[in-house]
Amino acid sequence: MDDPLFYTAVLVAASALPTAIAVYAWRARRTVQGALYLAGLSSAMAVYAFGYAFELASAELSGMLWWSRFQYAGIAFIPALWLLFVADYSEKNRFLTRSVRTALFALSSLTALLHWTQPLHRLFYVDPHVDATGLFPLLAFGRGPWYWVHQAYVNLVLLISVLLLAASARRPSPIQRRRARIMLAGSTLPWVFYLAYLLGLGPRGLDLTPFGLILAGPVFAWGVFRMRILDLAPIARESIFDGMRDGVIVLDRFGRLVDLNPAAVRIFPGLSREAAGQDLAAVLPKQPPLLDLLKAGAPPEVEIRVDEGQGERFFQVRRSPVLRGRRLIGHSIILSDITTQHVLREKLRLQASVDDLTGAFNRRHFTEEGRRELARSKRHGRAFSLMIFDLDHFKRINDTFGHETGDRVLAKTAETVRKELRMSDLLGRHGGEEFAVILPETPPRQACAVADRLREALSRIEFAMNSDKPSGIAASFGVSGADIVIDESLEDFVRAADRAMYEAKAAGRNCVRCAGPLRM
Ligand code: GH3
Ligand code: MG
Ligand code: MG
Repeated sequence: MDDPLFYTAVLVAASALPTAIAVYAWRARRTVQGALYLAGLSSAMAVYAFGYAFELASAELSGMLWWSRFQYAGIAFIPALWLLFVADYSEKNRFLTRSVRTALFALSSLTALLHWTQPLHRLFYVDPHVDATGLFPLLAFGRGPWYWVHQAYVNLVLLISVLLLAASARRPSPIQRRRARIMLAGSTLPWVFYLAYLLGLGPRGLDLTPFGLILAGPVFAWGVFRMRILDLAPIARESIFDGMRDGVIVLDRFGRLVDLNPAAVRIFPGLSREAAGQDLAAVLPKQPPLLDLLKAGAPPEVEIRVDEGQGERFFQVRRSPVLRGRRLIGHSIILSDITTQHVLREKLRLQASVDDLTGAFNRRHFTEEGRRELARSKRHGRAFSLMIFDLDHFKRINDTFGHETGDRVLAKTAETVRKELRMSDLLGRHGGEEFAVILPETPPRQACAVADRLREALSRIEFAMNSDKPSGIAASFGVSGADIVIDESLEDFVRAADRAMYEAKAAGRNCVRCAGPLRM
């Protein structure tokens, strides 16, 4: 180990590595982030290692100095290229403006210039000479001021690059984090060797830094190329995942949050990647339909309503298994915004079930809803009432004031009645000027009172049939119902209410008649 040629051989062999990396990186400079500067950096390292190899092999001062000058064609530019590479690679290069780049290279060029011109001044080396006291003759020198400037430059750049990579290692993407960690390891290598040199480890007077720098090269190359090829697919997948308009939530087998994309966070602002590991039920307590999706045997799709303070939105939610081989390891939940479709569908549904003129349910829909209500009352043994009313002498209104006025009377009637009814009551247009109302959970006696209230409300309307004096609307009401529904059909109630309504007509109109009990 006391033969300088051993180190020379090692360094010459080792310089082949940065040379190869430089060539490879240069070829990939257009497609790989950071490759251009890696090519430059590797070339500088190769020059450094190669030059140092022959400096060690030289026995005389003139040869040592010549090879030292050769090395500085690389060494001087290492800090500038190092910083550009790390900044470019870690995508934190915005601070490297044109003038900053120029300054970096100017500083490097000045170092090279001062080194090359040194017999003319003592700014770099002071009294270079051969030190023959060690294992083999080495170049020794006193250190001039610019030597220290260069040292400071190198260490400052190494420090900045470590900070940049450390910041990059905290990024949310696991791939970016992994890449940053590799580069971080590469960046600290020269320091480790430099420290070993300062601590006097290794042969006396032998600068270990080039060895550290040269070892950093392959680590960087690994970070740039191998990781890139391996990670292209996950990176693409990740960017698709993050850029998707659909929300995606990934859960483990136990329903605990594993990952989610920004779209999912936009849907549920309460969610975040920080909640990973928590039960979905704990982080989304307001979404039982979504949570039901995870129950065994549940259908894989549901529609949910979300109202997180940004207005009501609707989502189609799909659950798919996440398998490793054949083993179920979790579930993914995909949320697609179907608010537009939902609103349209509702509108269509309404159009199909609602009468245009009055806004009351049409007869078909009223009957459907009425049957549903009746079944519910039957199931719970509750009361149920139905009322039918028909406007009095409506033909006259049409005949006297015209059909359009008749239409306005019908619309006004529905509007007035709706105001008087409860939210749960159903208003339907039964025929031309005949309406029906279902009053769930209302005993007939109470329904008769409601009917009378409606009749009065209509009569109080100040409706201007034409420009003459306004008048109220008159109608005859028939009510039927049961205190406890047992086996009556909707038709039974309709028939009874209709009969009662005709009784009201016969009794002089503008009044209410209540049918007796349907069962004796
Ligand atoms: P009664 O008190 O016996 O019920 O007398 P009426 O005139 O109200 O009864 P009739 O059944 O003879 O007439 C109902 C009229 O309602 C006949 C029809 O032209 C009119 N009508 C039905 N639907 C509409 C509508 O949508 N708009 C208008 N303007 N009139 C309608
Ligand atoms: Mg009528
Ligand atoms: Mg009629």
